[in-house]
Amino acid sequence: MILIRNGTFLTLTEKNVIKEGDLIIKDSLISYMGPQKEWKDKFDTVIDAKNHIVMPGFVNAHAHLAMTLMRGIADDLPLQKWLFDTIFPIENKLTAKDIYFGSLLGIVESIRAGVTTVADFYFHMEKSAQAVKESGIRANLGFGLASKIGTNTLQLKAAEKFINRWQESENGRILASFAPHAPYTCTLQFLKAISNQARTMNVLVQTHLHETKKEVEEFKKKYGTTPIEKLDTIGFFNAKVNAAHCVWMNDNDINILKNNNVGVTLNPQSNLKMGAGIPLINKMYNAGLTISIGTDGAASNNNLALIEDARLTSFLAKGTSLNPELLNAKELLKMATVNGTKNLGFSDVGLLKEGYKADIILIDTKKPHLTPFTDPYSLVAYSMYPSDIDTVLIDGKIVMKNKEILTVDEENILKEAESCYKQLRIPNK
Ligand SMILES: [Zn+2]
Repeated sequence: MILIRNGTFLTLTEKNVIKEGDLIIKDSLISYMGPQKEWKDKFDTVIDAKNHIVMPGFVNAHAHLAMTLMRGIADDLPLQKWLFDTIFPIENKLTAKDIYFGSLLGIVESIRAGVTTVADFYFHMEKSAQAVKESGIRANLGFGLASKIGTNTLQLKAAEKFINRWQESENGRILASFAPHAPYTCTLQFLKAISNQARTMNVLVQTHLHETKKEVEEFKKKYGTTPIEKLDTIGFFNAKVNAAHCVWMNDNDINILKNNNVGVTLNPQSNLKMGAGIPLINKMYNAGLTISIGTDGAASNNNLALIEDARLTSFLAKGTSLNPELLNAKELLKMATVNGTKNLGFSDVGLLKEGYKADIILIDTKKPHLTPFTDPYSLVAYSMYPSDIDTVLIDGKIVMKNKEILTVDEENILKEAESCYKQLRIPNK
């Protein structure tokens, strides 16, 4: 059992903020969250959280972990050129070893930024799964799929096998999903088959939808409808779907997502950096969609610090509506935590609440930029740096303590990732 005491607990529940409370972890779960008491129990570990904010870990609901190896190699390009001329040719060269160390690099970076749950979405997913298993992070692993003539059935079978192997593994810490890349890289027939299979297996589908104006307009020219409208007619949303981006949306697209309970994951840094646009955050929020936040891959962001994307989401909502009251700090932190776990198919994760999984971060507030200690929601949402996080617990286990990663060898991961990058022989710009 672990006891965390003396901190300021941001529960994100009806209990709100508990000052100098106690939080007890038994196995992987929070067994007590409330005022300090005298305990007769023997604790294996007592964490003194004085001068710390204690809160649920952040959830990165859309990422491509191993793309950390391509950080900074394809900046300042439009999406189609970025993807087809730069990223796809490099991805064709990636080996299983690259994916393993690229994923570990992404995980270590995530943990340091207080991310306790991540959505991965890539290929060679066995290697990503291995990295997730060893590191202790919580993840939904999306088996990447894109149509290639004559391979769709084989791909679907491989995805099924992967999902059966990993779904609900490691005490439920790992979930797995189908991850068709996008309606412009997958045929409608393939998307329909994927959705049917996901529904049969009761697992999530992750995909990219309506990221660029060009993609939506080209689809409209071909089919006379938006991708979302078309996907609705083929029953794609009968499965549980987490849709990344959703930048170029009409009212009907938003209604379709709402009526089908589709999770929306915004990636504002990636969208701005790639010149893709600004999503209609207020409209989607007011429509009652479950909105979560993602970083996208490090080749288009260029880091995995979820809090930066969360902050930007709030600022864009306020700035585009000329209304600073929209999306306040507490609502924003819910998007960055519990909404993400919902959109990724986890239940009982993302709140400091009895019976919930112990995925917890400690933020050191003894910093100039977090002084004076005013409203803790505000300090986290608008002032903290990712580097203020010094301790991280996932599934009841301490994975980072006082800034030291305990589960994997960080120094070796950095060294191996550097060597994988060199072997990719990416030409200098
Ligand atoms: Zn993406």
